[in-house]
This record gives sequence, structure tokens and C-alpha cells, in this order.
Amino acid sequence: MASTVSVPSSADAQLHELLRRYWGYEGFLPNQAEAVAQVMAGQDSLVILPTGGGKSMCYQLPALAKEGLAVVVSPLVSLMKDQVDSLTANGISAATLNSSLSAEERRAVASAVRLGKLKLLYVSPEGLGAGFAMELLREAEIAFFAIDEAHCISQWGHEYRPDYRALGELRAHFPGVGIHAFTATATPAVRDDIVRSLKLRDAAVVVGSFDRPNLVYRATYRNDLVSQVTGVLKRHEGEAGIIYCISRNEVEQLAETLRKKGHRVLPYHAGLSQEVRKRNQEAFSTEQVDLIVATVAFGMGIDRSNVRFVIHAGMPKAIENYQQEAGRAGRDRLEAECVLFYSAQDLLAWKRIMGAPASDYDELAHSKLSEMYRFARTLTCRHRFLVNYFGQAFEHEDCGACDVCFSEHAELEDSLVTSQKILSCVARVRERFGARYVAEVLKGSKIEKIRQNGHDELSTHGLLASYQVNDIADWIDQLITQGFLVREGEYQTLRMTDEGRRLMRGDGQVKLNMPRPTKEKPARARKTAGDVALSSGEEAIFEALRGWRREVARERGVPPYVILNDATLRELAHERPSHMEALLTVKGIGESKARAFGEDLLALLREQAGAQGLSLAATVSMPLVKPAKPAESEPSEAAPLTGAASRAKANSQKEAAYEAFRMGKSVEEVVALTGRALSTVEAYLLEFVQDTGVATPEPWVPRLIYARVIAAAAATQADRLQPIFESLGGAVPYAQIRLALAIKANAEEG
Ligand code: ADP
Ligand code: ZN
Repeated sequence: MASTVSVPSSADAQLHELLRRYWGYEGFLPNQAEAVAQVMAGQDSLVILPTGGGKSMCYQLPALAKEGLAVVVSPLVSLMKDQVDSLTANGISAATLNSSLSAEERRAVASAVRLGKLKLLYVSPEGLGAGFAMELLREAEIAFFAIDEAHCISQWGHEYRPDYRALGELRAHFPGVGIHAFTATATPAVRDDIVRSLKLRDAAVVVGSFDRPNLVYRATYRNDLVSQVTGVLKRHEGEAGIIYCISRNEVEQLAETLRKKGHRVLPYHAGLSQEVRKRNQEAFSTEQVDLIVATVAFGMGIDRSNVRFVIHAGMPKAIENYQQEAGRAGRDRLEAECVLFYSAQDLLAWKRIMGAPASDYDELAHSKLSEMYRFARTLTCRHRFLVNYFGQAFEHEDCGACDVCFSEHAELEDSLVTSQKILSCVARVRERFGARYVAEVLKGSKIEKIRQNGHDELSTHGLLASYQVNDIADWIDQLITQGFLVREGEYQTLRMTDEGRRLMRGDGQVKLNMPRPTKEKPARARKTAGDVALSSGEEAIFEALRGWRREVARERGVPPYVILNDATLRELAHERPSHMEALLTVKGIGESKARAFGEDLLALLREQAGAQGLSLAATVSMPLVKPAKPAESEPSEAAPLTGAASRAKANSQKEAAYEAFRMGKSVEEVVALTGRALSTVEAYLLEFVQDTGVATPEPWVPRLIYARVIAAAAATQADRLQPIFESLGGAVPYAQIRLALAIKANAEEG
């Protein structure tokens, strides 16, 4: 079913240039190039990439490169708003159309669409269903549809949204327009459902690896939740995290306990009023607060990319849920930690909630629950476990990023003897007591109840005195999971199974984990690209940059990650560029952000580096990061238009562009004005310069860049652009080089 489309390399170079210029990125993440190529080619596609895989780029970049309006369907108003804010910050014209807009705002968006001023329009599925967006779209020239979170269309998915069903109509209403679906959910049933429901035609399926190498997974038996949680918090001071609990009650209690211990934390669950929920979520996404204790109601709208840890205080009911919730950590691709605290109680609680299986569907739910419990207790690599669960092979021997591979849970050497001691103690107390009591007896405790029962006289009393009661209780739990013991009745008393009796006589195999050594600083994940280790002075600069970002975000009324993400701030703290062109080589800083924040950032870095006694990068005007090698040929101009109508339209738009250039408007302004692709407008500007003999670089090429291009052209003595591009370290886009040379030619003539 998958088909491949090869894109000519000149188009490739153009895409790379847009990527660099608007987003400040050097190249594609895995699978992005392939996904982008499908959209460029107008081939329907289904793209499955994990959270943090960079799905939005797969449609945002083509939206910029293609003619017309890209329509993005997204499930939540808050997600749409964040995306539009991010695009706007990068200098790309985008808007949302949803039911939260006032009539006036809606009119403004509609008029921008009609005038072809937008590159991307985000719409809600209910908006399309209710028809107001649909009518507007019929009047527009649509480049393609991108369906974000496409699994919402599937009843098999865990986030089914009935209003996504309306999207099935798109194909009939817009028969010639490509439809591209994006999701992180990979099960075959959901996948088929998406293709069928959206009526995708011969869809190209792009599937990335589901592994999240930047996440460190840990799972530990829950014995003292509060101290276990605070242990994790200690490793992540000042960082953002989410703690998931199963019930509202647990949320309230844990939040209160942590607050008393001096943590700034907010609760979130469905029992809170909508207003409180909204306020708490906003406080988290604007970095006013870094810690949230929540039920799974705290979910989809959470786009904060620098969540450094997710703690599960209880076990979810399926790996799909776990993956989704834990996956909210590290969306910025930097290291993050996911810790699961579980207990056999969780398993029993879920079984009680689910009831006895009465249908195939129930059976499935129960088997998913067992898989989840198996994951919690596994002694094989957790990355491998997860990737295999989702049907992929795992290539690494050792993931370097889970408690198992870090050998944090070793097997107890005398598992059999220890098990025999426990089992015989259960027999001695005549199978009439629960796990905690049996553990106390084995520990040798003299609590009153034990003395009253005369159990301090038993031969098994104090047999495991050198261990903690919690460790012994954990082993009892492990014996239950392995089928040697069961809990029974109202008091959850321990009873031996037939296997248990045999094991007590030394017949059978058993495996117990070592009690966990509590390490202060556990091992860290292997470094992922962009995750630079910072010295303590650099950490201080990073914190200062975060403070600056929080301020700017507040002033602009957007979440901080919309300004710049953590990966970019870390690179800034580490590289410490000292001038504008070097700044432009930092990942995540495109031209628009350099214009908006460049001077502030350079000043702040100068000041902070001074305060920390660190130097700035050398001031040679060469990039600090080696740019990706540009493709062999130069970027091409926009794709040829077809049909007389579009030719006429193009001509009138070209006239409009010339008019605007005469008034000194920038390329971006003319893109907004005419709605033409950036590359088209750049081509117009070049022609305009050549036709009218413009002989001074301003306002289209900054003086400094102009001078450098001319110098590079003289030095390389080349008649092609590429050597000039390369000798400038890739920091000056082709379009600017071409323009500078044309202006120079005019100046020489005139
Ligand atoms: P998803 O929607 O798949 O969860 P996002 O679109 O939020 O992923 O992207 C995840 C992160 O990767 C973001 O911080 C984004 O800026 C970054 N990113 C996307 N494309 C690239 C790229 N080509 N190079 C570097 N970083 C990228
Ligand atoms: Zn591992």
C-alpha cells in the first residue's frame, strides 16, 4: 500500500532553505523528509510518529512551500492556539477558526482567507461539521488538509471524538485535494480505521520508530509513596513534572502533602470546576507553576514541551494509556524521566472496576491489564518491551535508559530459600493473616497483635530479620504474581496454592528481585542529539534565559515554549554566540526570531557570561554549528501554474507585488498580502530588482549581509551560487545571495 515519491533535489534544497530560514533547523528529523515529500507531491498519506517526533513540521513546511491554504484539523482550541502562536513567532501567517472566536474575529479570519493572506488555517472538527468553516473553505484555494491527532476518528482508539466523523465528508467536498493524517497511535485497527474513515486514496504510510530514546523508564513497587515521590522530585528541582494518580481523592491528598512539604503544586481532576481546571492548566503551561498532581483528565491539551518527568503514583490499566501519559515527558527531545510506582493492589483494583469479562472486548481489556502489570514487573529492557508491544523490533542490545539496563533491580541470589521461608510462615500462621502481618512476623517484630497471637514464638519469627518489612511485603507480592500465593476474602488473607506447597518443599522455580539500593543520583539516559551537557556556569545562564523567556512570554500572552524551546536555550547557554549571524546558526532560531529577540539575547548572553566568568564565542563571522550540506542544485522557483485562470491570477498578483515593493514592503509582507508562496514572492522581488534597476540593498538585504555576500563572491570568483552559499557557512539563504548579486550588478551598471 505504501508508495514512494521522489522529489527533485532542487525542491529539496528549497525546503531546506525554508526550514533553516523560518525554523532555524539544519535538517530533517527521521521520517520527516519522507512525510513532507508526500504532502509536496499531493499524495494522500498517513504518518505515524511518536510524540516529539516532529509531526507538525511535516505539514507546516509544505504549507509554506506550496501555493494556497493548508487546512489543519486539530481537536483542541488550546492546541490550535499554541501552534498558531508558534507559527506567528516564526513569521508565518496562520490563524484558527473555531467556536471560541467572536463573530468579529471570525469575520477577520474569513476575510484573510478570502484575500489569500494565510498559509495555514487551523479548524476544529466541529467547526467543519457545523458548516461555517466548510462554506469558507469552498471559496479558498486549498493546498491540502492535514488531520492532526487522527486517531480521534477511530472508535478503537483511546481518544475517540464523535465530531471527527465529520471529516469523512472532506473527500467528497474537496475531491482534488490531498488529505494527510498524523497520529502517534499505531495499532493496526486504528490505522485501518483512519484510512477508511478519511477515505484516503492509495495512502502512503510513513511509520517511524516508536521508541523515545530520550525517556528514561523506571518502575518500582510502591511501598512508601510520599517518600518515593519526593525522591524523584529531588532529582528534578526547578524542573517541570506531572504526577498521575488514579483517583481524585489521591490527587487531593498527595497535592496537599507535597504542598505541606514546601512544593509549589496544583491539583487537576474532573471534580474541580472548569474555571479552576483552566486556571491550573494555564499556570502549568505558562511556567508559573512546575508541578501538577492530576488524574488522567489532565491530558490532551498539555503541550508544554519541557516536562522533565512524569510520575505514575498508580498503575494505568493498559500500556497504551501508560505510553500516552508518560509520553508527555520530553516532547522537546531532551532527556526526561518516567517513573511508575505500582503494586498488586492496582491490579486488583482495576479488575474490580472491570468486573468479570463478559465479552471479547472485556477479554481484551483484561489481557491489556495483564500486559501492563507484566511491564511494571519485567526484568527485560523497558524500551525493548514497549517497542515490541507496539509491534516493532528493538535494535539495541541495551537501551542505556531504563532501570533494568542500569541494573537497578538485580535478582536475589537465594530466591528459593527466601521464598520457602515466606511460604512456611504463611503456613505457620494457618493462612489466616494478610501480607503486612506475615511480613512483620518474618521481620521479628514484637507488635502487640503478634505477641497476643503468640506468633513471636513461631520458628519463622525473625527469619528475615535483616530485611525491611517493605522488602518482605514486596516479595510476598512477587510470590502472588508468580502464582504461589493468593489473597482471599474481605481481609485479603494469604493462602497457598498447590504450586506454593510444592515450592515450599523445594519443587519449582521462583525469582525474587533484590531489595532496591536507594541511589541518590541514578544513571542518566544516553544523550540524544541537541542534549548538551552544561557546566554549572552554563546552567546558571540557562536559568537566566528561562527567566527572560518567561517574561517575554507573559508580555506576549503566549506559552514560553512558543518563544524558544529548552533545546535552543541550552544551546545558547553552551555556545554563547556573540553576534547576529552566529545566533542564526543556533537550532530553533530562524530569521523572524532573530529579528524579534536577537538583540535582547545577545545582550543577555554578554551580561550573563560576564557574571559567570565565561567567554563568548569568538567573534569571527562564521557559524558555530557546521551547517547541513546543501543539496547539489539551487532551489527552484515555485512550481509552474496550470490553466489560464491561474496565469491571470498570477499576473495580477505579480502586479500587486511590484506595487508593494515600490512602497518598500518586505518579502514577508508581500507574502501576507498576496498569499503567494514565499519562493514565488522571492522570485518576483528578484525580477523587480532586475526590471527596475534597484541599486541599494536596503530594505531587502541588510547592509552587513550584502557586504559579506559581495566579499564572498569576490573571494570565491564563482559563477555559481553554491560556493558562495557554502563559504558563508550556509548562514545566508540563496534568495538573499541572488538578490544581493543582482543589486550589485545594477550598482555597477548605474
Ligand atoms: P509531535 O507533534 O510529533 O509530538 P512536535 O511537532 O511537537 O512533535 O515536535 C517535537 C520537537 O521537535 C519540537 O520541539 C520541534 O520544534 C522539534 N523539531 C521538529 N522538527 C525539527 C527538525 N527538523 N530539527 C530539529 N528539531 C525539530
Ligand atoms: Zn533498557
